[in-house]
Formats: sequence, structure tokens, C-alpha cells
Amino acid sequence: MKNEPKIDADEVLGGIVEWVSIESPSHDAKSVNKVVDHVEGQFRDLGLKLERIPGRDGFGDILEAKTPAEWSQGEGKGILILAHLDTVHPIGMIEKELKVRREGDSIFGPGIYDMKAGGYIAYYALRHLIRQGKRTKLPVTFLFIPEEEVGSPTSRARIEEAAKGHKYALVMEPGRDGDKVVTSRKGVGRFTLSVKGRAAHSGVRHQDGRSAILEMARQIERIEGKTDYARGITCNVGLIRGGSGVNVTPAECVADVDLRVPSQQLAEEMTHWFLNLEPIGKDVTLTVEGGMNRPPYQKDAGISALFEKAQAIYREIGKELHDVPLTGGGSDGNFTAALGIPTLDGLGADGKGAHAIDEQIYYSSLVPRTYLCTRLLETLE
Ligand SMILES: [Zn+2]
Repeated sequence: MKNEPKIDADEVLGGIVEWVSIESPSHDAKSVNKVVDHVEGQFRDLGLKLERIPGRDGFGDILEAKTPAEWSQGEGKGILILAHLDTVHPIGMIEKELKVRREGDSIFGPGIYDMKAGGYIAYYALRHLIRQGKRTKLPVTFLFIPEEEVGSPTSRARIEEAAKGHKYALVMEPGRDGDKVVTSRKGVGRFTLSVKGRAAHSGVRHQDGRSAILEMARQIERIEGKTDYARGITCNVGLIRGGSGVNVTPAECVADVDLRVPSQQLAEEMTHWFLNLEPIGKDVTLTVEGGMNRPPYQKDAGISALFEKAQAIYREIGKELHDVPLTGGGSDGNFTAALGIPTLDGLGADGKGAHAIDEQIYYSSLVPRTYLCTRLLETLE
């Protein structure tokens, strides 16, 4: 029997835990860059060509790692692998609620599920091919994003630019419970409403005041009323601030709205609706700013074909892969899919509790998920 290297669950887990042990909240560039340093070193050891784009606006660096040209027979467009190295958890969680620990099949840790496990699995998959003496058919580019959890404001342009030069995008975001991946996601819009009213003494000259808070309350009723579960539209007024004192009619009020829509058509329709909102009360002004920050990711023929390839690979290990119904959570996959690049998302480890204090991955998913990623890299052409 040949002494072929195997995908080793303990080895995969050990690597994931190293990444998780370097805490990296999105807004802490220094900490994010510590994990970028670690990942950069690992890809350098594999012989990949590296480019590190310095962070801006208080975020960490973007890391790009490409397989050398001589590795793949294929010329031109290859596979883009997307992963983010930031997490939503503040520094110190690892010593408190989210200690790295194993309980049965579950391994806990900050950002372990969303999505350091996925990023590491992609790295391990390439390393596993290399140590078997194999290569990918297509060139592969890994792009590690420092601020996905806040909407990728400084890396979106780079992701879109990279996507255009690739044939496929594989997104290593968390897998969904029970051998599921993601083939569509809703689009995400953000709008800020500002109302200006008129301040007056609430006791002496109440009739002269024009309450910006009252106006906003009416607008909120109207906005939340646009939520339509049947059509997949949700409108959430998630933040509100206004007023200057309890005895003053409030002159100002600002609210932030999160919009989710399943299609480009609804994205345009709702954006138009938001930007044309008019005041309801008299003598107040209303300004609306914003738009879509992640376009909808819709399952098309190219995505279906890529998903079917992944299903065929999963069957090699006797397992059936499914896709989840349209999810409301956005990812960087929204950017690549909207550009028409066949995109498969949710390729990371199975688990649960993303962004929560019970965030965990399932040990039993590590080998199947790593196998899937390895074989996608090996066979996509
Ligand atoms: Zn994520």
C-alpha cells in the first residue's frame, strides 16, 4: 500500500485553532494584521506569489496569494477563493465566553465558524494537493479580506477586480448545518433617514415646535410596513437617535435602515422607493441617503452547474450535498455572483452560532469539507 498522505481531521483542527487563537475584530487593524502575518507565512511556505495591500480607514491589510504560473496547464482565468480573516468578536472573548474548547463533536472559539475554519480548510486543501504531488488545473488566487464583517468597504473594489479575472469563485464562509452550501443570497441595502423639525419649549411654546421624532415614528411605520416575507423583502429600522432634551420639541432625528431583497429588480424598486420618500407631517424636511451595499446573489445556470460538480465530488465520499434556500445573510460572494462569476459559497466547516457566544464548528465536518475543497481545486477546469 502506498504511503499517501490523508486529510487528517486533527491536523486540520490544529491549523484552525492556530488561526482562531489570534483574535481579530474587524475594527482592530493591528490584531487583524497579526493573523494576516501568520497566513502570509503559511502561503509563502507553499511557494505562492504574495501581494499584501496595506489597509486603510482603520482596517487591516488585504492578502492575495496566487499559484505560480508554471503550476497549472490552464492559461488565463482560474479559481478565486474568498475568505475573511476578521471576526465580530472583541479582543478577550477567547479568555471569557468563547474559550477554545471541545465538547463532543463541537469545537468553540471566536470566529471559528465564521470563518477561520473555512479559510484554513482552503489553505489545507491546496497544501494537501501539493503534498500528494498534484497540482490544480487552473490558476488559483486566494484573497483574504480584513473587514468583511462590516461590509468590506475597503476591499470591495479589489474583490470585484479579482472576480473579473476568474472563471469561478469559491467562498469559504460557514457551511450550513447538515452538508449544505450556499448558492444564493439576498442583496443588502443600507439607508440613513434624517428628519429636521423645529425646536421649541415643550411647555411654553409647544405649538411652535415640529417634532422630528414624531415624523420619524410615522416614517418608521411606513418603512417597516414594506416588509413582505412572501416576496422576501425585509426592512429593519435598526438604529435611531434624536432629540436634545425631554422638555424640547425635537428638531432632529436620524434612523438607519437595513434592507434585504432577493432580486436585482426588487433592489432597484426598493432603492427608488427609499430615495423618494417624502415627509408626512408639515414643516419638516426629510433626507434619505444610501443604496445597495451588496447586490443580490441569484442562482443561475453557471452556479447550478458548479453546484452539481460539487455534489458529484461529495458523492465520491458517499455523502449528499444540498444547497440552502435563499439566505438573508450577505457575503463577499454577492459581489462575485452579481458580476456573473459562477460562485459557490458556504464551503467552510459545518457548525452553528455565527456571531454568537456559542459559535462552534463540528469536528465531523472537517474531513468531508476539506475533501470537497481539495477536489474542487483539483478538478475544476
Ligand atoms: Zn463570514
